[in-house]
Amino acid sequence: MPNEITDMMRQREYTDAVREILSEKSARRGREYTACVVTYGCQQNENDSERLRGMLLLMGYRLTPERRGADLVVFNTCAVREGAEMRLFGNVGALVHEKRKNPDMMIAVCGCMMQIEENARRIKMRYPHVDMVFGTHTLYRFPEILLNTLKNGGRTFDVLDTKGHIYEGLPILRDKSFSANISVMYGCNNFCSYCIVPYVRGRERSRAPEAIIDECLRLMDGGVQEIMLLGQNVNSYGGGGRAFAELLYRLDRLGIPRIRFMTSHPKDISDELIAAYGELKHLMPQLHLPVQAGNDEILRAMNRRYTREKYLETVRKLRKVCPEIGLTSDIIVGFPGETLEQFEDTMSLAREVRFDAAYTFIFSPRAGTRAAEMPDDTPYEEKSRRIQRLIDLQQRITLQILEKQVGRRETVLVESVSARDENSVGGKTPRGHMVNLPGDRGLIGKFVDVEITSAGRNTLRGKRI
Ligand code: SF4
Repeated sequence: MPNEITDMMRQREYTDAVREILSEKSARRGREYTACVVTYGCQQNENDSERLRGMLLLMGYRLTPERRGADLVVFNTCAVREGAEMRLFGNVGALVHEKRKNPDMMIAVCGCMMQIEENARRIKMRYPHVDMVFGTHTLYRFPEILLNTLKNGGRTFDVLDTKGHIYEGLPILRDKSFSANISVMYGCNNFCSYCIVPYVRGRERSRAPEAIIDECLRLMDGGVQEIMLLGQNVNSYGGGGRAFAELLYRLDRLGIPRIRFMTSHPKDISDELIAAYGELKHLMPQLHLPVQAGNDEILRAMNRRYTREKYLETVRKLRKVCPEIGLTSDIIVGFPGETLEQFEDTMSLAREVRFDAAYTFIFSPRAGTRAAEMPDDTPYEEKSRRIQRLIDLQQRITLQILEKQVGRRETVLVESVSARDENSVGGKTPRGHMVNLPGDRGLIGKFVDVEITSAGRNTLRGKRI
């Protein structure tokens, strides 16, 4: 029997053992045990947190969104942005008082950040109130780690295994009933010079198409209307080439109403995938295609392995098969050594492509990456000026694109109730534009036909038809 299957069987035994211990302890203290999972970072991390919640539920915890007063707080961390690191250490430190009040309380820290030795060591030395630390590769062993800590007391550190197998069948408690994130692959082989992901998520490994199809079928049975396929670089799913497009064709045949995916690396986008946008009924006309920069020298220094012209050619091909496609992107401003002239190339690319939206960042060095060692003599004020120009440009383009939607009829999948007005709901068009419209929470998860009546800076307004 493969190791992964025996490992998973053992984890189920540990899950049962934790549940027994908790049920005895709950009976003794006359109160159930509660757990809160706090997530930092990307959708892949959100997806891991859904798995942690699934495991916790099976182990007998009641889940709570409130970390104060919880008996177990799990911080699922992100290593990609520096801000997330600072927030984590602050938030973990703040729980020291909570732990003094509740002797049963346990704290776990897991995720990408813990794959970086220095961070795990910092938790070990400076945050003695943290009971458990584990990395992305050992997430599946959470029941074992928790059982060990519950039974033996002390602290458990489990971040060493970097083999990164795929463990199918982990329990999962999804955040939404109508829309689901599905990881199709893990890790990344690309080593973009600014990115920490390959070091903390390991090399690429893909799930078998059958396992993904099975998961989709189960989700469809449960009423899911939209799936988001996740991977650091889904274009190299199954080793690259046409494999990801083939997976999309198979999923399209299942009839799930809406299929989206992220993230795509421009160098790996295949002609078959581009053709899929013209052929597949359920693949939404939306693509997040991070360009990062519009200048070839900067792209080379970033180790992106495509040129500006290659990127623009991909965009032209996509728009030829799917003129309505909504493109979004990530752009880094102020990469080490970026001259004003090179930045102007990024501006002109943004003008030429006309993204629906772009997530713009000032370069922030991540220790352990090659870019962190590169000489960087551009003052921060200059980088701020550049990013502001790019943001202004993108806001103008976004508004123009949204204004063009006014008067159109669209089908919106309603996702949420407005935080400010309970008689207003929001949902997305096939192209990914957010539309606000009158309605109540009974519409969540339903498709609604709307006419777009006005455009704001980032969202549309519509009325039901
Ligand atoms: Fe990071 Fe590049 Fe991999 Fe994306 S493709 S996860 S930016 S290394």
